[in-house]
Amino acid sequence: MLGWSDERKLADILPAKEARAIKKAFGYTTAAELLQHYARDYSRHGSGVNVEAAAEGDVVTCVGEVTWANTSYTSTGKLMHRIVISDGRTMLTATFFQAKFPATQLKVGVRAMFSGKLGFYRDTPQISHPDYLLLPAEDQRGATRKVGTGGLRNLAAYGDISDVDALLSERDFLAVYPAKKGMTSWRLMGAIHQVLATLPKVEEPLGFTPEGMVSFDDAIRGIHEPGPEGPEAHRRRLKYNEALSLAIVMALRRADTENRRASACPPIAGGQQERLRAGLPFPLTRGQEQVIAEITADLSAVTPMSRLLQGEVGSGKTVVALLGMLQVVDAGRQCAMLAPTEVLAVQHGRSLTTMLMNAGVEASVVVLTGSMSVAQKRQALLDIVSGQADIVVGTHALIQDTVEFFDLGMVVVDEQHRFGVEQRDRLRGKGRDEMTPHLLVMTATPIPRTIAMTVFGDLAVSTLRELPGGRKPIQSSVVPATLRPKWMTRALERIREEVEAGHQAYVVCPRIEKEGGVLAVHDAFSRFSFEGLSLAVLHGRMSGEEKDRVMADFAAGGIDILVSTTVIEVGVDVPNATVMLVLEAENFGVSQLHQLRGRVGRGGHASLCLFHTGIEDELHPALGRLQAIADTSDGFRLAEIDLLSRQEGDVLGTSQSGTDRKVKMLSFTEDLEIIEQANRDAARLVARDRELAERLVTDIAVDNQEYLEKS
Ligand code: ADP
Ligand code: MG
Repeated sequence: MLGWSDERKLADILPAKEARAIKKAFGYTTAAELLQHYARDYSRHGSGVNVEAAAEGDVVTCVGEVTWANTSYTSTGKLMHRIVISDGRTMLTATFFQAKFPATQLKVGVRAMFSGKLGFYRDTPQISHPDYLLLPAEDQRGATRKVGTGGLRNLAAYGDISDVDALLSERDFLAVYPAKKGMTSWRLMGAIHQVLATLPKVEEPLGFTPEGMVSFDDAIRGIHEPGPEGPEAHRRRLKYNEALSLAIVMALRRADTENRRASACPPIAGGQQERLRAGLPFPLTRGQEQVIAEITADLSAVTPMSRLLQGEVGSGKTVVALLGMLQVVDAGRQCAMLAPTEVLAVQHGRSLTTMLMNAGVEASVVVLTGSMSVAQKRQALLDIVSGQADIVVGTHALIQDTVEFFDLGMVVVDEQHRFGVEQRDRLRGKGRDEMTPHLLVMTATPIPRTIAMTVFGDLAVSTLRELPGGRKPIQSSVVPATLRPKWMTRALERIREEVEAGHQAYVVCPRIEKEGGVLAVHDAFSRFSFEGLSLAVLHGRMSGEEKDRVMADFAAGGIDILVSTTVIEVGVDVPNATVMLVLEAENFGVSQLHQLRGRVGRGGHASLCLFHTGIEDELHPALGRLQAIADTSDGFRLAEIDLLSRQEGDVLGTSQSGTDRKVKMLSFTEDLEIIEQANRDAARLVARDRELAERLVTDIAVDNQEYLEKS
């Protein structure tokens, strides 16, 4: 982590049995891994029957006094010892079966630490057979008694802290670790203590202690064994380290871009860019004008543009990108536009061509997708390498090595979140004579500032906030079909009404096969609800050609209702579609639903989006989430809802398991200040000592950097 590691083998530091058990439970073999197993909570010494926050099945550890005890025999003659533990605030019941030892020790008035798996019996929290360790009474601290069972007794394996009473009297906070069966919080505490006790003072890996922060040495110790001031300062420092690693990665990328050269493409009077501008069927919004001015300036420079354009679905990003591309075409160079799906690539190809043609612009658009026939592909590749093609639109296929550009001057990436850094860089590497193409990344998922800084920190940001004139807001409703069957009936009626008024509808399903899938829904709707209307399906298993045909047919008005998966999520533009029904909407994420909804309301007609759900529980959180999405169309507000409804780690990629995750503590909703400080420091560090900066983040592999950006 950020220039620090502790590669000592746990097997060399800990008793063999402990090292083995830790490896088995968590897979850790090095000291660094164990030291980055941070507490999930802290219990204050003397209190701590703190089970409110824990859930059924969690392993909890607590310190409390036995306030009630009873030994009895069950009907089958089993000895049963039950006690109530209290910290003065919360009560917890613990039960022991067939255990004489606890029965003799755990009497009223005894203080002890307990650790066990939490369950609930009639809403009362309880643990069965907890490990425990007797403690001296409050007024007799320092007196030594070492009696305990199970995991707690394992603390005795560590010479240094086998005197648990002493340990406790010295500490105000005890770390409560994420535990597993066979590896309790106590055992981890003992092991970590041992690792820390044998860890020499860690020199500041950054070469400096960040302003207002504790030293790293303090932090890595204090996060586990905080003093009377508690763990907060230590947490802040470790969060800062996490933020700084991300910030350095971004600052390095920025520095890298600044060192590259691009061909300057200043606007040319009387060029194609001007012609399109003059020939547009609508006036540009103020926001569009402003972004175009920013892009025009960027493209005129010899430093490659690196710009992120974020704007609501339907805010008119495409025409902005196209005007930029024409500036590059005017300078005699080519442009590539990368789309996340074939459907979208083909559609972009079509709509760009139409826009250019209608305005009398002379620029050729070539589409390249994976599912084109060999002959088609060969022709496209030829056009690209010969320079015939001014604008190339395609999917991932564009990044393949077989694609060679004559003179690539600009890359536009639509709906960035589907692409990783590496893919982006590969395309950028396709410039001529060591030149780097200008880059414009577009996203309809608004990015909260903290994420923008950390994840897109290497890009300048432009934002389109308004929707082009005349667009009616989309009215959204939640349709809880099981709770309110009549609403569902009404929803289907509304769809029919829209179609009868000459409009079209989307029905989105969370899957292709099985109940509620595209195929089954299409079948049922064709036969029952929408008999007599024209329905079609669209999903990812269809061939590219089939998909194109269906989309073209739908765009031309030949299909009334399109039943599809989320393949229509991004960019698809059919202004006549005025209603969307999302089935089992709880299966989709916040931004996904927002994206989907953006497929309607594009033609100045009042539009409607219906989020169907089968949820039966009125209080289910997913229902509240759907309602929140229905209640607002402000993408930035939604991005926040999204962020809040997910685990932070999730934001940066779900597949990252414990040890590889680079962000364990940093919160993108709460730690703005830390992130800002880290960004400032990273910029300074990279400017001052680039080598050090690079060294500090060598452990962040490219794929890690990539998932950061895919979020
Ligand atoms: P997105 O930002 O989601 O990619 P698009 O670029 O697809 O949005 O634009 C959505 C629709 O709005 C398109 O049909 C486009 O032609 C139209 N549009 C773009 N700019 C304007 C404008 N200034 N006035 C009216 N319509 C516009
Ligand atoms: Mg778009």
